[in-house]
Amino acid sequence: FGTLYLVPTPIGNLDDMTFRAVQTLKEVDLIACEDTRVTQKLLNHFEIETTKISYHEHNVHAQTNALIQDLLDGKNIAQVSDAGMPSISDPGVELVAAAVAQNISVVPLPGANAALTALIASGLAPQPFTFYGFLSRKKSELNEELEHLKDKPETLMFYESPHRLTSFLKELVAVFGEERQVVLARELTKRYEEFIRGTANEVYEWANETQLRGEFVVLVAGNDEVEEENYWEDWTVLEHIDYKMT
Ligand code: SAM
Repeated sequence: FGTLYLVPTPIGNLDDMTFRAVQTLKEVDLIACEDTRVTQKLLNHFEIETTKISYHEHNVHAQTNALIQDLLDGKNIAQVSDAGMPSISDPGVELVAAAVAQNISVVPLPGANAALTALIASGLAPQPFTFYGFLSRKKSELNEELEHLKDKPETLMFYESPHRLTSFLKELVAVFGEERQVVLARELTKRYEEFIRGTANEVYEWANETQLRGEFVVLVAGNDEVEEENYWEDWTVLEHIDYKMT
């Protein structure tokens, strides 16, 4: 069988491409791209001439079957999305699951990812954290999802598009209260990278008064007022492992 390589690509700054990512994209037989035009720019920059094929949300089912057949026939395939880690709020998971089911080896490369990059500079607790990606676009569903999350004690991370950010933050203030600490990480790795830190209300007001451009990660401090006793029950397993290791 061939191997399926999962190759992260830069989230803005082309210098974040790793040597191994370039080498892998040069050496595989086929690159499965979310958008072949977007990936072509990257391939041009690094002088990579490998054949491309599209693999995106609208052709996932048909293409998964075709790519698995290629892998079974011995081809090595790299999967990339437009930016960052494949499968993280991006196409990929169906292909990986299908490859795993067929005992095809799956090799992930480390690399750029917006959520983790934002987290380490946020100043919020880096662990535990939970990554939710995009919540619902519908106000009533968004409200329900946030209600479900408001008492979680860990740092919460979301992706949101610039034209929905203000309404997202408005709902966040309504559900989480005005005082919760929020960090926006904007345009990470790019020229206008910035962090907006403050209470939920301050960050909402900033967004409301600003013409929002670029890409944003939203990070929200965990609820430090919840009764933690029951919440951490599941962690006894981890503590036990730690204890045995030391
Ligand atoms: N696969 C990507 C990753 O590993 O981070 C995420 C792809 S998702 C379709 C795109 C979202 O990620 C954007 O709407 C934004 O929330 C976030 N994002 C991507 N690049 C970013 C950047 N340079 N700065 C801030 N947020 C970014």
